[in-house]
Amino acid sequence: MLDALSSLAEWYRGHGSDLLVTRGDPREVLPALADAIDAEHVLWNRDYSGLARERDADVRQALAEQDVRRGSYHDAICHEPGSITTNDGDPYSVFTYFGRKWQDREKEKPYEAPDADELVDPEDLSIPDRWSSTLPTLADLGFDDPAADLQPASTDAARKRLESFCAEDIFRYDDRRDYPADSCTSQLSADLKWGTIGIREVHAATVAAADSAETDAERESVEEFQSQLAWREFYTHVLFFNPDVVTENYKEYENPIEWREEPEHLSAWKAGETGYPIVDAGMRQLVEEGYMHNRVRMIVASFLTKDLMLDWREGYDWFREQLADHDTANDNGGWQWAASTGTDSQPYFRIFNPMTQGERYDPDAKYIKRYVHELADVEPEQIHTWHELSVTQRQRLAPEYTAPIINHSERREAAIEMFEAARGE
Ligand SMILES: Cc1cc2nc3c(=O)[nH]c(=O)nc-3n(C[C@H](O)[C@H](O)[C@H](O)COP(=O)(O)OP(=O)(O)OC[C@H]3O[C@@H](n4cnc5c(N)ncnc54)[C@H](O)[C@@H]3O)c2cc1C
Repeated sequence: MLDALSSLAEWYRGHGSDLLVTRGDPREVLPALADAIDAEHVLWNRDYSGLARERDADVRQALAEQDVRRGSYHDAICHEPGSITTNDGDPYSVFTYFGRKWQDREKEKPYEAPDADELVDPEDLSIPDRWSSTLPTLADLGFDDPAADLQPASTDAARKRLESFCAEDIFRYDDRRDYPADSCTSQLSADLKWGTIGIREVHAATVAAADSAETDAERESVEEFQSQLAWREFYTHVLFFNPDVVTENYKEYENPIEWREEPEHLSAWKAGETGYPIVDAGMRQLVEEGYMHNRVRMIVASFLTKDLMLDWREGYDWFREQLADHDTANDNGGWQWAASTGTDSQPYFRIFNPMTQGERYDPDAKYIKRYVHELADVEPEQIHTWHELSVTQRQRLAPEYTAPIINHSERREAAIEMFEAARGE
């Protein structure tokens, strides 16, 4: 966020203006600022989580009390909550129909950034000293320097990512998006989250890519990518209409799900020391990069909720802390999908086997070895059967790498029983 703001400030300065930075309760700070600079009109883009909507309504009210004009726009997604509904006007709880309507709906074109002569020169505003254009540091905000090595956050960097993705990887996305070693996805999630690129611009680039596709398979691949953008909007709609999903299950079970409480297992999962190589690789990627490949997010989330039988809220909290692209709607949607508690989620009895997932999606163990260095010299075949090896074999091959902390087959049965009890069976 700070890097994104810093690059935005730089852009404004390059255009004879500036970004004013202020901290505090927006209900007080924004009306005070509007008053100090004699603002006629305050404009913002809409945000859809429950907390954000409460905040915006309060700010709107405070500005109204000062007789300042208010206006808000939609910018975060192509189609706002309420604009794609069932024929009865209800929000969709299943993605397929939503996705089809989303695809067919006309999209707005991106807007140009304003010219320098449309912007305000801060010199003309006599801004009180209380407001400045200095961004806070991480320490000012109470954070340590990030351990993670984050990708650069700026519009230039985002445009480069988009351009290079649309030149090549978008055409093999459908085939390769599930293979984490390939890194063939767009890596635009943090940009979309922090606004270093707009969704209209991303969508327009995919339309241009579809026009330049040479085969049906390439065109379908572009559509598959667009469909992920639609998932993002689907989850935003779900959150808008069900703000409680942040803490509550979307899906109601007859009885409460009896998640286990096993702090050592939770710690092993967070540290990437479960003895399930694909899970550990993902959890280490998360801490090292503030990012994790989508297929692996699904695997580690399934592992936490179905193998360790721990509450999805534990995983969601850890992801929220670690992910540079943390987005309430998508993160929550992903977790509740994996935990079989969400809308249109994974059926409770379909439980990923972490070993076969690793074998299928990382057959050469390239992704695993990138993050789990203890396995650097172990053959893929042994990595993918780590849970079946004897203690002596494991000791000989990679003495520093942990033994599996649970037995997947046993836990699979136990998890199904846990869900059946919740269903009242
Ligand atoms: C447990 C779990 C937690 C997740 N948490 C987040 C999160 O906090 N923030 C986040 O943006 N995504 C989240 N996702 C969705 C997905 O994993 C990431 O969007 C994706 O990995 C980001 O990489 P990318 O930009 O290269 O994706 P690409 O495959 O290039 O997709 C393009 C864009 O589409 C959107 N998208 C893709 N897949 C999904 C999806 N399944 N659901 C919603 N939107 C999607 C993202 O905005 C993404 O940037 C989560 C998924 C799971 C299973």
